[in-house]
Amino acid sequence: MKNPNIVILGAGYGGIMTAVKLQKSLGVNEANITLVNKHSYHYQTTWLHENAAGTLHHDRTRIQIKDVVNTSKVNFVQDTVTDIKQEDKKVMLENGELSYDYLVIGLGFEAATFGISGLKENAYTINSINSARLIRQHIEYNFAKYNNESDKKQERLNIVVGGAGFTGIEFVGELANRIPELCKEYDVPRDRVRIINVEAAPTALPGFDPELVEYAMNSLEARGVEFKIGAMIKEVTENKLVFEKDEQREEIETNTVVWAAGVRGNSLVEEAGFEANRGRIPVRDDLRPEGHDDVFIVGDCALIMNEETERPYPPTAQIAIQQAEHTAANLVRLVKGDNHLEAFKPDLKGTVASLGHDDAIGVVFDDKKLFGWSATAMKKVIDNRYLLKLGGIGLLLKKGKLNFFH
Ligand code: FAD
Ligand code: NAD
Repeated sequence: MKNPNIVILGAGYGGIMTAVKLQKSLGVNEANITLVNKHSYHYQTTWLHENAAGTLHHDRTRIQIKDVVNTSKVNFVQDTVTDIKQEDKKVMLENGELSYDYLVIGLGFEAATFGISGLKENAYTINSINSARLIRQHIEYNFAKYNNESDKKQERLNIVVGGAGFTGIEFVGELANRIPELCKEYDVPRDRVRIINVEAAPTALPGFDPELVEYAMNSLEARGVEFKIGAMIKEVTENKLVFEKDEQREEIETNTVVWAAGVRGNSLVEEAGFEANRGRIPVRDDLRPEGHDDVFIVGDCALIMNEETERPYPPTAQIAIQQAEHTAANLVRLVKGDNHLEAFKPDLKGTVASLGHDDAIGVVFDDKKLFGWSATAMKKVIDNRYLLKLGGIGLLLKKGKLNFFH
């Protein structure tokens, strides 16, 4: 019998961890494993807000795929997926096509824009190395331009972040640390610069522990972040943002809107005909969509329900990594002829969010709250643990966050 073709789409947390686990468990004479990704590198999405603010260079965030994937066991194809033809068991790429017996979809997330007028055209999003690098350059350009114009334009120095979920909060935390450096570099008075975080819900970080939310807002406000809470963004143009608060329409003049107000699964998966809910594909407990026994979905493209809360689990790297490990183990079972797949249940270790490089908040081990230095250190432990898992001690030493005092 011929070896099955296992094709993995996307080398984010879900895709690359599936490949790394499979290369350890299956021999070349058992399966043909192919990993497809747009770029030659994997990036840690969870660090992109630092790259976007300019507090961490993007080369720290990205890892060459060939440094962690053994290319004598896994065929790496650098290409862009354009379509999945389920009926033919084929994946279409910009430069070719691949046939699969088993498909693992790990194509990640994209910004959910909710049809807001002008958002797609005028706002920036933090979702890849390219988009983060663009935000960094755009902010820096506006600072540089400010003193080169005789009529000083305030919109160059107003930075608006849409959404005070974890991405929005983590990004304004980095900006709060970065702005004083930019002011110095471009001779811009600090009191001219505004960082405005606009959130539709009645609180920042809706659903998170209120004591930690208060701590976060105090920490950020002390460093100059302004919050507009209960303020629903309605429109974005080239030089302003419009929101509605207490039934009043307000405008902020700005050249820089960073949209961090929600994500959805990669639209390609929905377009391939999988039944989707906000771009995420409901999967059974073995992570296969109903009626598709040859397809596994890992990471932000998968929708899994939390039976206790009867709501979907939020899409996180933590869950993507666990799903990848689980899927790799189930694929090994299938390849070895065992059709009894194990059910996936997330083992949540907690949530830790940074507020810049020297402050953070978190809840770990069910209900232990962390603030300040201990939360910052915990975040580094989580990040370092991932690197260790992905590429061993060598990768940890090369890319890890090893300075616990900064
Ligand atoms: P991704 O990490 O998005 O990877 C998808 C991969 O697919 C990418 O490599 C991409 O290049 C590739 N790809 C996409 N389209 C194509 C295509 N057409 N063809 C080929 N390749 C393609 N979660 C946490 O648990 N903890 C955190 O601290 C945390 N912090 C975050 C901070 C930020 C700023 C953001 C934006 C998110 C954060 N998250 C965090 C959420 C987490 O990053 C996501 O849940 C996670 O990245 C999902 O992993 P994934 O493998 O599904 O997709
Ligand atoms: P999110 O959906 O968690 O938060 C988006 C926020 O934007 C919400 O608070 C929402 O009320 C607000 N919003 C939506 N529409 C709006 C509008 N029109 N105007 C103003 N505000 C609006 O999205 P996210 O923060 O990008 O996070 C995405 C996923 O990544 C989540 O699952 C999150 O848990 C995860 N994440 C985790 C971490 C961490 O663990 N440290 C960090 C970043 C992201």
